[in-house]
Amino acid sequence: MTLMTKDDYIASLRRMKKRVFIMGQEIENPVDHPLVRPSLNACAMTYELPQQPAYADLMLAASNLTGQQVNRFTHLHQGTADLVAKVKMQRLLGQMTGCCFQRCVGMDAFNALDSVTYEMDQALGTEYHARFRQYLKYVQEHDLVVDGAMTDAKGNRRLKPSQQADPDLFVHIVDRRPDGIVVRGAKLHQTGALNSHEIIVMPTQTLSEEDRDYAVAFAIPADAPGVLMIFGRQPSDTRKLEGGQLDVGNREFGGHEAVIILDDVFVPWERVFMAGEYAFSGLLVERFAGYHRQSYGGCKAGVGDVLIGAAQSLAQYQGTDQASHVKDKIVEMIHLNETIYACGIACSAEGKPTASGTYLVDLMLANVCKLNVTRFPYEMARLAQDIAGGLLVTLPSEKDFTNPEIGPYLEKYLRSVDRYTTEERCRMLRLLENLTLGPGAAAYLTESMHGAGSPQAQRIMLARLANLEEKMRLARRLAGIV
Ligand code: SF4
Ligand code: FE
Repeated sequence: MTLMTKDDYIASLRRMKKRVFIMGQEIENPVDHPLVRPSLNACAMTYELPQQPAYADLMLAASNLTGQQVNRFTHLHQGTADLVAKVKMQRLLGQMTGCCFQRCVGMDAFNALDSVTYEMDQALGTEYHARFRQYLKYVQEHDLVVDGAMTDAKGNRRLKPSQQADPDLFVHIVDRRPDGIVVRGAKLHQTGALNSHEIIVMPTQTLSEEDRDYAVAFAIPADAPGVLMIFGRQPSDTRKLEGGQLDVGNREFGGHEAVIILDDVFVPWERVFMAGEYAFSGLLVERFAGYHRQSYGGCKAGVGDVLIGAAQSLAQYQGTDQASHVKDKIVEMIHLNETIYACGIACSAEGKPTASGTYLVDLMLANVCKLNVTRFPYEMARLAQDIAGGLLVTLPSEKDFTNPEIGPYLEKYLRSVDRYTTEERCRMLRLLENLTLGPGAAAYLTESMHGAGSPQAQRIMLARLANLEEKMRLARRLAGIV
């Protein structure tokens, strides 16, 4: 059993032969690319923290498969304490990086596949569960980052996968061979794809019999033949290419997403965890989404802590921190942020074991968690921008500050409360800009809306799980209606 260090992790990515395209160019070495490196640094924190005694308890867990210490990101939750620890770990990492650290999608895919493959084998006599656990042992032993790839291209939303004009708009099996399957299609919005060793592909929605070939789940190395990655743009991303420090806001960290193309990729049977069992596709989607909706209760609260810290700092730097309306706005942000976290903890504490022994979150509370996340970060960003003032979007470039003629003017006229430097004020404005308008907003805002399913997906789950009949019965009883 090897736990990798940050350096081991980076060296392991260097050895891979991924095909990666950034802004129309194929990139030989994405590891050192300035647009990719911040996201790699963030993912690498999942390797750095377990090495530090203060965080080892939270970041490591005893594997139920081998008894060995493994990184919690590769662990199957063995109780509600594990589910709670997961959320705490994610909040910690959000605080440390101020961005998406990417490794959660694989963890959520492992936990969903574990129980679903078990239940599928029980119902259908298939042999996926043992195969999946064998694979997970390999992941744990090598301490790998695994991308969880769910979202298909989807084409015309009114049509089922097999009804689409182009059959490849959802990932599907194009050939079944004695030694494995061949798959084709694409997965969109793939968090941390370039920083992953492996990709687990799962179906994106409930499927019916005519879409049997689309009911497919499997694992492939991220550099398997036929896999292409196309790096996604983010607001103000090219500031990372300017070589400066100040204008990027978050100097060290950031997330990324990519389009993954699967162009007739071969998958050996030992890495296939669903191949045609359409009746279990919906269950896999529901469980993966449930875990990922729980995840946001940790990571978004951690980034929210950074946002609140930035807003409060700016209030101090600018001399508004004692104004009653500013104090009230900070308290409002704290309330919203802790509500997100409370839901993440609640759905974990109310988790229950599945038939495989792996614990599942309370799905109602996980969906409430995520539905709050589709709204609260936007309100927190609005309040933080209110506190920051308009300089957030009118601040001149770092190059203006270093220009010998105009730099001193900026230094003089942008000075605020005496005990803080102009540079401190500007750095904090740039961090807040990053989180609410720049690359950080991609994860903190838009991903909060659509990641782990758009708001309507959570509303459908709430309507399904709420048991309105029972609520009406309670009301009728008290009203004396029989
Ligand atoms: Fe993890 Fe949050 Fe990033 Fe999803 S958005 S991978 S839960 S850090
Ligand atoms: Fe996400």
